[in-house]
Amino acid sequence: MTSPSAPPPQPPPHSSSPFTPAFSPPPPPPSSHMPSTSSSAPPSPSTSSFSWNSLLRFLAFSPTPKPLNLSLFLFMLLHSSPPPDSRSFSFILKAYAHLFSFRLGSQNHSYILKLGFSSDTFIANSLMHFYITFGLLQLARMLFDDMPNRTQVSWNVMIDGYSITGDYNTTLYVLREMQLQFFMPDVYTVQSLLSASGGLGALSIGIWAHAFLIKRLDSRARIDIMVNNSLVDLYARCGSLSMARQVFEGMPERDVASWNTMILRLASHGRIKECFFAFNVMVKEDNLRPNSITLVALLSACNHGGLVKEGLQYFHLFTDQFGIEARLEHFGCLVNLLARAGLVDEAIDCVQRMPCKPDAVIWRSLLDACWKRRTQVEISESVAFKALESDAEEGDSGVYVLLSKVYASANRWNEVGLVRKLMAEEGIKKEPGCSSLEINGIVHEFVAGDTSHPKSEEIYKKLEEVEKRISVVGYEIDPMEAPLIAGRDEVKRDCLRLHSERLAMAFGLMNMSFGTPMRILKNLRVCGDCHNVTKLISVVYDVEIILRDRLRFHYFKDGSCSCMDYW
Ligand code: ZN
Ligand code: ZN
Repeated sequence: MTSPSAPPPQPPPHSSSPFTPAFSPPPPPPSSHMPSTSSSAPPSPSTSSFSWNSLLRFLAFSPTPKPLNLSLFLFMLLHSSPPPDSRSFSFILKAYAHLFSFRLGSQNHSYILKLGFSSDTFIANSLMHFYITFGLLQLARMLFDDMPNRTQVSWNVMIDGYSITGDYNTTLYVLREMQLQFFMPDVYTVQSLLSASGGLGALSIGIWAHAFLIKRLDSRARIDIMVNNSLVDLYARCGSLSMARQVFEGMPERDVASWNTMILRLASHGRIKECFFAFNVMVKEDNLRPNSITLVALLSACNHGGLVKEGLQYFHLFTDQFGIEARLEHFGCLVNLLARAGLVDEAIDCVQRMPCKPDAVIWRSLLDACWKRRTQVEISESVAFKALESDAEEGDSGVYVLLSKVYASANRWNEVGLVRKLMAEEGIKKEPGCSSLEINGIVHEFVAGDTSHPKSEEIYKKLEEVEKRISVVGYEIDPMEAPLIAGRDEVKRDCLRLHSERLAMAFGLMNMSFGTPMRILKNLRVCGDCHNVTKLISVVYDVEIILRDRLRFHYFKDGSCSCMDYW
């Protein structure tokens, strides 16, 4: 399940992978002839590799693995006869990944090279998985590229690596590479694909993955609860709430994560009343105890609906009645809720009284509200300073952009220039806007001002046509949306004109058949001018546009948006 502050449900572990033991229950307790983890007597030198491996497996996957025990046994194993085999290292690597101990785990890579195991496919798969656990995808990729013999598992590990790190385009690219090498996707490949399709908002790829799962599982087994949760998440993230509901309602059983996913996604689609209804069913009919993520989901719903009273009620209900300890993410939601509803003083008060240290996200949401509510420039400045202070290492361009908007709306153009200069001096660049849409299974991506698309010339011609047609119904560009662009209003206009979602919409209008909703995914929040343009396009071209930006879904139809201009 996903939200700005909660991770999406991950597909279930790859039970056919060499990493199966990590997710399996630990083996039975040691019998009398097996040494315990705490007082381990060394086995005799003639111990077979099978016994060694059983012992390693036991140590590695005990609920509380001990790094010292693992190192000790690895040491003894290296000096034993017979020597360790590929399985021994696989267990050890898995254990260190489980312990999140990079230093100890990576030492095994040298043993592996020393013992001449580097070309062993089983070990290479384990090493790839180990490095991916620590986010070192490039190292895993180097191992993958060097493998003389790849197996289905090798491809799955790599595909899953790209998927869990959010590199969804590469996930799809590697999948195609895999098929070209005559490997067929299996259930585990498809689970990674579900996550990638949801991330990309690529509905038809998601549908294909779902169909594949049903076909492969046939009547032998039910799709398990975690996969169903992933499917609900996938469809909702792709903008198809009806399909998400269909999966959700067809689930033979649901857990708290299922309900949390549904409530969060309903919230991001602006279905606030349905969120509250779902919560009641979850508690009263399914008798499930909500958790801290449920509170995030409900506060997120209140936030999208601007419902301060309800938000505060849920906050107290969860902390007082359900015994949920309010954490940073809950206070973040609360501050955002108050600030966006115009209660900036109350939001600042909440930040000052919260028991945990506010992070940059909280300060930034406060600054955003200050800009929207045209709060005193001095207050906005101090909030911006706090945001930069909390995020000193990241050099967050978002704070600079917001601050420049604060100054621009107060007509303080000298300060806007100073912000621009400061950004240049600090080497801080505005994150480029990027929008994508999927047509016939191919995801087309556009960055602002992009000319790299093969149909770029036609796209720009279409954009001109769009602008002419929406001008007739009263469109006027708002240069205030681009305060950081140096120069006169014409220059700002030229910049806004080429925002990524407009390129994506022009391409969609050129290629999609009448009556098909256009689904666009944007990495940043849609700006006010593009929001206005999209509303007008929906009425002039009689097209339904579903835009998922960084915050939520916007459904544009007949000249209005489902967010009611509150986003
Ligand atoms: Zn824009
Ligand atoms: Zn909207």
